[in-house]
Amino acid sequence: MIHTIHHWVNGVESTGRSDRWTDITNPATGRVTGRVVMADEADAEAVITAAARAGKEWAATSLARRTQIVFNFRELLNSRKSELAEIITAEHGKVHSDAVGEISRGQEVVEFACGIPHLLKGHLSPGVSTGVDVHSRRDPVGVVAIISPFNFPAMVPMWFFPIAIAAGNTVVLKPSEKNPSASLWLARLWKEAGLPDGVFNVLQGDKVAVDALLTSKDVAAVSFVGSTPIAQYVYEQASRNGKRVQALGGAKNHMVVLPDADVDLAADAAVNAGFGSAGERCMAISVLVAVDPVGGELVAKIADRARGIVVGDGASEDSEMGPLVTRAHRDRVAAFVDAGEAAGAKLVVDGRGVQAKGESDGFWLGPTLFDNVTTDMEIYREEIFGPVLSVIRVKTYDDAVALINANPYGNGTAIFTNDGGAARRFEADVQVGMIGVNVPVPVPVAYYSFGGWKQSLFGDTHAHGTEGVHFFTRGKAVTSRWIDPANRPEGGIELGFPRND
Ligand code: NAD
Repeated sequence: MIHTIHHWVNGVESTGRSDRWTDITNPATGRVTGRVVMADEADAEAVITAAARAGKEWAATSLARRTQIVFNFRELLNSRKSELAEIITAEHGKVHSDAVGEISRGQEVVEFACGIPHLLKGHLSPGVSTGVDVHSRRDPVGVVAIISPFNFPAMVPMWFFPIAIAAGNTVVLKPSEKNPSASLWLARLWKEAGLPDGVFNVLQGDKVAVDALLTSKDVAAVSFVGSTPIAQYVYEQASRNGKRVQALGGAKNHMVVLPDADVDLAADAAVNAGFGSAGERCMAISVLVAVDPVGGELVAKIADRARGIVVGDGASEDSEMGPLVTRAHRDRVAAFVDAGEAAGAKLVVDGRGVQAKGESDGFWLGPTLFDNVTTDMEIYREEIFGPVLSVIRVKTYDDAVALINANPYGNGTAIFTNDGGAARRFEADVQVGMIGVNVPVPVPVAYYSFGGWKQSLFGDTHAHGTEGVHFFTRGKAVTSRWIDPANRPEGGIELGFPRND
């Protein structure tokens, strides 16, 4: 049955006026299961206006009430995450346990946002001058736009909206048009949690919707996550229009294995981080840097494990890896495998002909492993965003670090070693935002901030943690003087610059 996915405005679904629609496909079957409306400018305007109208009252709602609603949302989410995970699997393809995992990581940010009364506390300095006190406060910025990618339909929006809402802002979420159903499920959950209408809104669409958000005078801040070219575009457009913006982009994450590492554990980690979610994670490991002489043994162990992975429908309990998100993306990833082979990389495991446990029209591509990859090859230079792991062999630790630092991306990286000194040096040496030591996917917990360096993030603020609170609030410093009638100052005219004494 085909279902239709609409906008969410003022606490209800809204079709809008646009007559453009896009099909939604189940990647495991290749069948169209729904269609989503694509906003025009007027639709976008209506959603943004709803968010702007709700702003004043929400910002004035007590911290106690706001926290209680975020807490209610957390309880509902926690009890129903399996339902949301099914929706994600049906439109994204990832296996059910992975979908539950992404919701749980998003839920951590909701839990962090429940501490908003503490996080918003200002400072007070009594008596900075005679009879003068100074205090600081952080106020909401207003309407926040969140533009999210296909690969985490629940977690990525949840990096932002719990904190934005708890801090007193109103939100317009523009989800990926490839898997938009999770956004409406989340909107309904907010309503059930008691969030006033208009505080959380969803705008469905593509570039038209995004451009409307980037140019609207009513949008104060933009949190974007997606590919690097679009992140850069969003950063530049939003900045030009006077908005606060954080735009997280693509990645090419390297995992370094030193010769002293536990090779079995490193092989497990490389397989989990390279092929989990079919490699469609911004923190996936796509390059393995094997420092001599560990390469031969490591490649053999990874190949063994990769060949045993069960590829199939994410809704089936037996499946360990699901399909890719669309047919076009599957074909693009397969074309990278062709290119790697043609460029002379050694194809150790070839996922192109995988026998998936699923319907033949699914967008299947199995785990793929290349050895002897070099930095001039397309499979090294481009973000493939699929289950393709490239091994580069280097002679020394310094060669490994130089390789990472020469790469234009700087999202995540990891080192596998038993040498504490080398690990400590690594964290200082690499120009990357998130680093794992014997941890292949070092996604920070909610109370730290998530973000990369270089082409992986435009702007200077990372997501969630205290940086997230800072991004969604604006500071004020208040200097006040109250006159003590028993000790009244003399007053008088003094045109000189105010002094403190
Ligand atoms: P994408 O850039 O194609 O789309 C992201 C969002 O931008 C979507 O909402 C989409 O509708 C919108 N968009 C697409 N084209 C646009 C255009 N021309 N103008 C304006 N808006 C446009 O990314 P995707 O394919 O959905 O997601 C995968 C990418 O996201 C990968 O590059 C991945 O590395 C990246 N990603 C990064 C992080 C991170 O934290 N750095 C996290 C998740 C995903």
